[in-house]
Amino acid sequence: MCGIFGIYSHEKSNIVKKVYYGLYALQHRGQEGAGIAVGNGKEIGYYKGLGLVPEVFSNKNLQNLYGHIGIGHVRYSTTGGNIIENCQPFVVNSSFGKIAIAHNGDIVNSSELKRELEKNGHIFVSSTDSEVIAQLLVRELLKDDDIISAIMKVTEKLNGAYSLLIIYDDTLIALRDPKGFKPLCIGKDEGAYYFSSESCALDIVNVDFEKDVSPGEMVVIKNNEMKTYKLPNSNGNASTCMFEYVYFARPDSVIDGISVYAVRRNIGRILARENPNNSDVVSPVPDSGIIFSQGYTEEASVPYYEALIKNRYIGRTFILPTQEERDLAVRLKLNPVKHLLRDKKVTLIDDSIVRGTTSGKIIKMARKAGAKEVHLRIGSPRIVSPCFYGIDMATTKELIASSKTDEEISECIGADSVAYLSINGLVEAIGRNDLCLACLTGKYPTDVSCKFNCEK
Ligand code: AMP
Repeated sequence: MCGIFGIYSHEKSNIVKKVYYGLYALQHRGQEGAGIAVGNGKEIGYYKGLGLVPEVFSNKNLQNLYGHIGIGHVRYSTTGGNIIENCQPFVVNSSFGKIAIAHNGDIVNSSELKRELEKNGHIFVSSTDSEVIAQLLVRELLKDDDIISAIMKVTEKLNGAYSLLIIYDDTLIALRDPKGFKPLCIGKDEGAYYFSSESCALDIVNVDFEKDVSPGEMVVIKNNEMKTYKLPNSNGNASTCMFEYVYFARPDSVIDGISVYAVRRNIGRILARENPNNSDVVSPVPDSGIIFSQGYTEEASVPYYEALIKNRYIGRTFILPTQEERDLAVRLKLNPVKHLLRDKKVTLIDDSIVRGTTSGKIIKMARKAGAKEVHLRIGSPRIVSPCFYGIDMATTKELIASSKTDEEISECIGADSVAYLSINGLVEAIGRNDLCLACLTGKYPTDVSCKFNCEK
């Protein structure tokens, strides 16, 4: 997961506050930590910490940062634990100067690359694969002080997902791996170039969207000039994560020319077409179920009610040592409007079932509120295989749909029926074929055999 945001101001104005607001708009992509690194062409300063963007940064520590090139990161840990050392951007010091790097995605072969670097004397301060990229870059720069060729050589070694922002000297570099797993786009105003995981953050800092960084494209900003390069191994076969459209991205973002909101509405419509039922009420599981449900009720003409109310002030991270507290946490987050459910046949719509834990609890809640029947409709197809590219899912064994039929899942989570969107339906809803569907099909766009060997 994670979100990245960067700015290069050719007017040399201080961009720190704008990076902060950009990160604020990307908060949904990671809540565990945040950081900003700022360069003035010579020095790079940085500040990072654990928590939400406004918890990490105070006015004082923003004032201590000054520069016209900045990159920022919000962290959701997929590789490495939730400790400050794993927060980004990484700033690496070496004899040629400083380099700062912010990364979204997971590198499949990072353990092998890390082992090789350690054998050659590199010492790691974190357990993330983003530091592996930083150290590989340092090694190449020490051989030949040319950042473009160093990046080219490093990316040749990387297998996996990486949208990257890098500060080096007076240069800002943005790149998207050849498969384009994670989104990255460019904005522009008269004074600066902007880069963001999602277009919604460009809207928030009031900047015009320029274009998406193409899969396998490297964009280099220096002296107010933008140059683009093609990374090695970019053969035009993109494989962008479908889960960005289904769950992860904000609905007000547009990814590779496709509105996330429109996709979710399409998903709802197709879900209703593929799995009709005669319930009395349709209700979303908030928030991600809301747009699906609107599309669903357009097609199925069943009354739409928001029968589950979400407390929007609950953070995602909880220390939950006892079952009692875990049950309380679900009630703190969601509470039903009982009279909307009582004696009704209810269809609940959510984005995904991973382990089946959340849906089991929600169905129990709906039944306790008096629902006569509870049918669950899911906006993503069945998730049957783990993600190794940066979406935090689970191992094959933990994925409920990897070993159970829809009927068995219904029984397990206490629903009257469960139905998922089909894979064809999803592709139709998104309207593009160049998608990574590995978690739905078990067919991975890059070699992941080392990861499956680890699972065994
Ligand atoms: P589970 O309870 O394991 O079945 O997880 C499914 C629930 O978690 C759904 O309600 C989703 O909204 C949410 N979800 C799905 N994928 C993720 C993810 N990668 N990180 C956090 N939450 C997720």
